[in-house]
Amino acid sequence: MEKRDELYRGKAKSVYTTDDADRLVLLFRNDTSAFDGKKVEQLDRKGMVNNKFNAFIMQKLEEAGVPTQFDALLSDNECLVKKLKMIPVECVVRNFAAGSLVRRLGLEEGLELKPSTFELFLKDDALGDPFINESHVQAFGWATPEQLARMKELSLKVNQVLSQLFDAAGLLLVDFKLEFGVFHGDIVLGDEFSPDGCRLWDKETRKKMDKDRFRQGLGDVIESYEEVAKRIGVVL
Ligand code: ADP
Ligand code: UDP
Repeated sequence: MEKRDELYRGKAKSVYTTDDADRLVLLFRNDTSAFDGKKVEQLDRKGMVNNKFNAFIMQKLEEAGVPTQFDALLSDNECLVKKLKMIPVECVVRNFAAGSLVRRLGLEEGLELKPSTFELFLKDDALGDPFINESHVQAFGWATPEQLARMKELSLKVNQVLSQLFDAAGLLLVDFKLEFGVFHGDIVLGDEFSPDGCRLWDKETRKKMDKDRFRQGLGDVIESYEEVAKRIGVVL
């Protein structure tokens, strides 16, 4: 496999074409952003930690029957993935209230949600990733009803698998965001799963161990990501 041109430079990753039209290289950079790109900093080791974290999680999900983009780790900062036609909709599953749900509904942070909730956001930084519903997805043709049903099914399956995995490491999976795409007609999990796109709290102390440390200026951002990685068994 040969890495070729930069196809897209996102806020945290760069995407490269390869000599295989069906494969891309994802390069995880140290850039860390929040508030739709309004706060940006470089954090040492973040690219490496998130790349290895993501590889570990994607492999666990694949073993549990979730189709993912992941093919192989290529280096500290790069992995080889299937080239998906991305669906511009972010799927968010929540087990405890935090972030935008707390702001939107005026809840107390940490309220347990039973059953877990499933939300959709349009992936559009310029619009601030607005909250949308199923009928918007249909009306604007972002995904078919069948694709959306599969995205929801897989999101809830991911929640089941990862809630258990983090629980065994003394962590609460509070919420997370997933992006899906289409590969040869099937819905496949894309993008990444790392502490940048989920909330993880220590079960005993409720200490935040995820990107909220960056958003809220709590410090020790990467040290916390590394602690989570160590607890679940990611080799860094
Ligand atoms: P953003 O676009 O939000 O700034 P990133 O910096 O993470 O995000 O950039 C990665 C980009 O690559 C995102 O736009 C994401 O949707 C896209 N992407 C992730 N995985 C794949 C894949 N397997 N195939 C095609 N595109 C992907
Ligand atoms: N999230 C993300 N990218 C986004 C928006 C949200 O990875 O563009 C993740 C976020 O880290 C959290 C979950 O999705 O784990 C729910 O985020 P929320 O809607 O509460 O928004 P926030 O307040 O974090 O912007």
